[in-house]
Amino acid sequence: MTTTRPTDLGVALAELEGSGARPRAGGTDLTACLAHGVLAPAPVVDLTGVDDLRGIDWREDGSARVGALTSVHDLSADARLREAYPALARTAGALATPQVRGTATLGGNLLQRNRCWYLRNPAFDCFQTGGDACPAREGDHLRGVVVDQGPCVAPHPSTVAVALVAYDAVAEVAGEGSRERPVAELYDGADPFRDHVLSPTQVLVSVSLPAPVPGERAAYLRATGRSRAEWPLVEVTVRLACADGGDGPVETAAVAVGGVARTPLRLPRVESALVGAVPGVEPGAAFVAALDGLADLCSPLPATGYKVPLLRETVRAGVERALGFARD
Ligand SMILES: Cc1cc2nc3c(=O)[nH]c(=O)nc-3n(C[C@H](O)[C@H](O)[C@H](O)COP(=O)(O)OP(=O)(O)OC[C@H]3O[C@@H](n4cnc5c(N)ncnc54)[C@H](O)[C@@H]3O)c2cc1C
Ligand code: SF4
Repeated sequence: MTTTRPTDLGVALAELEGSGARPRAGGTDLTACLAHGVLAPAPVVDLTGVDDLRGIDWREDGSARVGALTSVHDLSADARLREAYPALARTAGALATPQVRGTATLGGNLLQRNRCWYLRNPAFDCFQTGGDACPAREGDHLRGVVVDQGPCVAPHPSTVAVALVAYDAVAEVAGEGSRERPVAELYDGADPFRDHVLSPTQVLVSVSLPAPVPGERAAYLRATGRSRAEWPLVEVTVRLACADGGDGPVETAAVAVGGVARTPLRLPRVESALVGAVPGVEPGAAFVAALDGLADLCSPLPATGYKVPLLRETVRAGVERALGFARD
């Protein structure tokens, strides 16, 4: 199969159109998908030469537009991004390994395929590989969803998406039907056939973040089955905008979770219960009630009931970390 390396976005889009080719960024997932039959053999359009997808631009209001080729490492290590968007930096810095973070890109992370064992095994067919069923639903779905949104039960794999959904970030997409859309709308939990809504002829160009909140308190936490090089069972990104540059009570909160559903999820009840919480102090009864209410959100599969308490405890611990409240 051929690989081209255009330097112009228009040329890249033209090469993708009608050719069956797949766009490649860092290649850490696409290469494996092509090698293991998750995707049918296809020509590759290497995006890494396209300048329009590179760089971080800062607007007058202090907000950032981040090019899709920005590495996951840079999302966590760029000094200005770290200061402006601490929850994004902490989230990006916690995923995979240093080697993967150095190669993986923002766009590739958001658009990677899920980690379902059946999807990754060419011996099985499923909705995502041209079949008409989900073998994981009746089979081994230990790492599957606990919020059942549709026929496919594989959790959304992108850790960076969790943070971006907490920021209400907006994605710029080029190609057929090109437009800006919230990052949250890149995913459709009811669609069993694909992990994101972009077609192979569309290219993610950039992601825009809102103006930073001075003194934002932030945390990222994941529950994993082993300590390194592992996708999370449950993960949470917490952003707290507090009065007095970060030391006063919470004015607004954003809490997003991954590993539980086909899409990253915001937790509005938890967010509103946190308004008024004070840094360094254990949050009160409203927060505890909101945590208890997370069980109502869940619709576990036979083997994913363990994620109901895991979700509660991961969110609790993530929020407490962001508040700087230490348990005895
Ligand atoms: C040991 C290990 C642990 C990991 N743990 C985690 C984890 O905890 N959390 C997590 O999120 N990930 C994890 N990963 C996955 C890793 O983060 C992804 O493989 C990586 O982010 C993909 O980025 P990439 O640039 O290499 O994408 P590529 O492999 O190049 O592309 C991925 C997909 O996106 C498409 N694509 C890429 N860029 C664009 C674009 N600009 N426009 C349109 N389509 C595009 C490609 O066609 C392909 O389908 C882990 C990987 C490993 C090996
Ligand atoms: S439909 Fe989804 S959960 Fe089911 S086997 Fe395929 S990828 Fe896995």
